[in-house]
Amino acid sequence: MPRERLYLFDTTLRDGAQTNGVDFTLADKLAIAGMLDELGVDYVEAGYPGANPIDTNFFSERRSMRARVTAFGMTRRPGRSASNDTGLVALLEAQADAICFVAKSWDYHVRIALETTEDENLASIRDSVRAAKAKGREVLLDCEHFFDGYKANSTYALSCAKTAYHEGARWIVLCDTNGGTLPHEVEEIVGEVCKVIPGDRVGIHAHNDTEQAVANSFAAIRAGARQIQGTLNGLGERCGNANLVSIIPTLKLKPEYADKFEINVSDAALGRILRISHGLDELLNRAPDRHAPYVGESAFATKAGIHASAIVKEPKTYEHIAPERVGNKRKLLVSDQAGRSNVLAELERIGVSLDKNDPRVTRLLDEVKEREAIGYAYEAADASFELLARRMLGQVPHYFDVEKFDVNVEQRNNAKGQRVTVSQAVVKIKVGDEELISVAEGIGPVNALDLALRKDLGKYQSFITGLTLTDYRVRILNGGTQAVTRVLIESTDETGEHWRTVGVSANIIDASFQALMDSIVYKLMKSGAPT
Ligand SMILES: [Zn+2]
Repeated sequence: MPRERLYLFDTTLRDGAQTNGVDFTLADKLAIAGMLDELGVDYVEAGYPGANPIDTNFFSERRSMRARVTAFGMTRRPGRSASNDTGLVALLEAQADAICFVAKSWDYHVRIALETTEDENLASIRDSVRAAKAKGREVLLDCEHFFDGYKANSTYALSCAKTAYHEGARWIVLCDTNGGTLPHEVEEIVGEVCKVIPGDRVGIHAHNDTEQAVANSFAAIRAGARQIQGTLNGLGERCGNANLVSIIPTLKLKPEYADKFEINVSDAALGRILRISHGLDELLNRAPDRHAPYVGESAFATKAGIHASAIVKEPKTYEHIAPERVGNKRKLLVSDQAGRSNVLAELERIGVSLDKNDPRVTRLLDEVKEREAIGYAYEAADASFELLARRMLGQVPHYFDVEKFDVNVEQRNNAKGQRVTVSQAVVKIKVGDEELISVAEGIGPVNALDLALRKDLGKYQSFITGLTLTDYRVRILNGGTQAVTRVLIESTDETGEHWRTVGVSANIIDASFQALMDSIVYKLMKSGAPT
């Protein structure tokens, strides 16, 4: 049975750019556009030409991509002609394959926000679509607040959509701008729209204000819509947009959709979706969401002992899809509740095979339990677990010793008379017979210690140049003055691998030092540094 085509429209660079704390440079936008193109979305909405210099710049030249580069902007302003509206002219001049107009479709907004008549708004839609078509662009109309508008005045909301459709717009996109519409309402209203506009001309643009943007997108597909708009990792204003990183695997892997629909994302590209999702986080300097469906680090992680032993025998028992399909991997968490099978499975993951009755397995399990009792968390620190296991097996080379370190924090007036706090660390290490002393200043004591430690590792320096810390988290485990501090550090390197290490101590610097050391030793070990 031939499958019907579904189109993916990505707006990470336009709506996603509205995310609190996100500011894309032109280089960021080009890099993300490349990632989206690699993934195989059909449209990349790259911004709002004329609205800011970066977007104007993006559209100043033809960007060669498989996806259709789409420019976003408003329909002509009320009371002006299309050729007399500078915003519209900038949009028509943009080097884009498609133009996505946003227009009011809620009569209340037309009167209050636009301060114009319903008829003038329809004329503005008509003229704008016409002008863009005359320029040879593919045209989309985003019907803003469509669902609220439909509930208030369905006749008017539909006439906005129909006006664009009759003028030849390729897509009429129904936007849940406030993000408050529920899936059953979306399904019902999209179903009504598809009675007057063919579903293969209808799109859905959902926001996540009730945590249902993905569900709303699927509800719209069920009702007939054939274009889905969303963003990578669900970026977007307030609670975000529909998350394409969740939508794409569901479309590809769930028979309900996979049997009926075809998208432009290949199986191979699907296998890279985790890397793309985490690549965006990296670019934004954010830690990936561990609990994200499909691509989160915990998406295929199992903790309880009884599940873990079943999952080793037959992964399907506890997994809804094979993790490899989305570039993820199965993970069994080692924790104090865990049984022997967790430890065995973790050992297998790191490539160590021991018989389940080997006394060393018992020793390792005891050690893990003992250390977790005082605050270590190996389930969150895969690299520290690997070091613990390999040390017990005598497989961790001895690279260097830290003879001593000294960290100080000083508050004083600087040359300009401003009060500043400065941290400095001195680290003395021994590599073979060579003694090395490094000094570094940092924005805080841990940063200074990290910089000093990694400043000069002698003959090992070349192995750690690609090492960067991507996350640093501190947790106080039991309140009061006797509190114990747990530090978790996430690191990455030039290969893109991420690993986590842990340190525990009553002293935060000491806990950080342990985690930093584990990270460095792990990096040396995995890079095959010679002893
Ligand atoms: Zn939006």
